[in-house]
Amino acid sequence: MGRHLVLVGGGHAHMLTLANVHRFVQKGHRITLIGPSEHHYYSGMGPGMLGRTYAPEEIRFQTRRLVEKQGGTFILDTVTSIDPDKKSLKLKSGAEQSYDLVSFNVGSYVPRELIQTDQAEAPDIYQVKPIENLLAVQKRLLELGAEGEFRVGIVGGGPSTAEISGNIHRLLRNSGRCRPQIQLFAGLKFMARFPRQVRRKVIDSLEKRGIEVLEEGYVRAVEPGRLILESGYHYQQDLILLAPGIRPSPIFRASSLPTGPDGGLRVNDFLHSPDYPDMFGGGDCIYFQKRPLDKVGVYAVRQNPVLLHNLLARCEDEDLIPFDPGGDYLLIFNLGDGTGVFRKKDIVFNGRLAFFIKDRLDRRFMKKFQAFE
Ligand SMILES: Cc1cc2nc3c(=O)[nH]c(=O)nc-3n(C[C@H](O)[C@H](O)[C@H](O)COP(=O)(O)OP(=O)(O)OC[C@H]3O[C@@H](n4cnc5c(N)ncnc54)[C@H](O)[C@@H]3O)c2cc1C
Repeated sequence: MGRHLVLVGGGHAHMLTLANVHRFVQKGHRITLIGPSEHHYYSGMGPGMLGRTYAPEEIRFQTRRLVEKQGGTFILDTVTSIDPDKKSLKLKSGAEQSYDLVSFNVGSYVPRELIQTDQAEAPDIYQVKPIENLLAVQKRLLELGAEGEFRVGIVGGGPSTAEISGNIHRLLRNSGRCRPQIQLFAGLKFMARFPRQVRRKVIDSLEKRGIEVLEEGYVRAVEPGRLILESGYHYQQDLILLAPGIRPSPIFRASSLPTGPDGGLRVNDFLHSPDYPDMFGGGDCIYFQKRPLDKVGVYAVRQNPVLLHNLLARCEDEDLIPFDPGGDYLLIFNLGDGTGVFRKKDIVFNGRLAFFIKDRLDRRFMKKFQAFE
């Protein structure tokens, strides 16, 4: 008998499953995708979109179109909680959606706890996720640049802050408008989990362009126009971007499901919940219980074939295969000036070649999955 598979979130780990909806349909199963947007943006190219190296349509997948074209159903909504015993999902709109089998790829979010304002919307304070936010940031930066001198503060000490700051510099330089003073508030040590030579190359590149990397302590609070450090020292800013680390989607904790210490859905080697074998997951929203994985798109992408296989196998009552996270992964940072920093194991280099390789790999990835549309 056909089963109903509900995919929640059309993120990086569901891409191969989305490209193969027709296989489920041909075997008599139903597929529904629930997501808050008709598109999914590829985060690896997000900073490049901010700096206008890429247009938005070059870095996004038309998830709705892809699913509907193959006979699946798309629901524009957001899942807020899960009842695993009733096999039912609650949606933001108030609707409920039942499932036989569910797979989550709902990613992670940037916490808003630092934002201190009574207003529902904090003007000129943006989170770097979802990646769509970077389009609003781009528009606002160009408006500010047309008005005159301004300041941008970026909260966070990871590589995404380096990529964002370099690409803000690029955007304003190429626009011919006023360039902002850009300050990175990186806690006590910028890119602390990277080797010295990677950090040095990134910092040198940013500082050459006048971008300040501050390692004076953590940010305690942000409010419109102002950013306050734990020391009490504060900085006036016209636009503030938040990238102080990410957390898995809160829906699993909110539903009292088994999670890891970070709140991610706990999954076993087969990428399903040990307690609920019809509940699968991939990407930033899971806690892989064998060993916690970094929150990088690389793992979400590596999970694609396993999720496709196991979802199809579960529908057909066949054997599942385990996920092997694999060894060290390649990282290349896009610094916004046509150069990058490349790192794989002990190999580290920077320059135009590094960005060339990243651009090639990212475009090839997009081309492969956009072809299914
Ligand atoms: C600026 C930036 C640059 C980055 N660059 C890189 C890089 O170069 N390489 C790399 O490996 N990693 C990079 N990362 C990390 C990367 O973003 C994440 O690891 C990756 O996005 C995880 O993919 P995902 O599919 O799990 O989540 P996401 O990409 O966040 O996708 C989740 C999807 O689920 C949907 N969704 C969310 N909540 C719900 C809900 N409740 N109900 C239904 N749908 C929902 C969202 O709309 C989205 O489509 C970067 C991150 C940032 C912020």
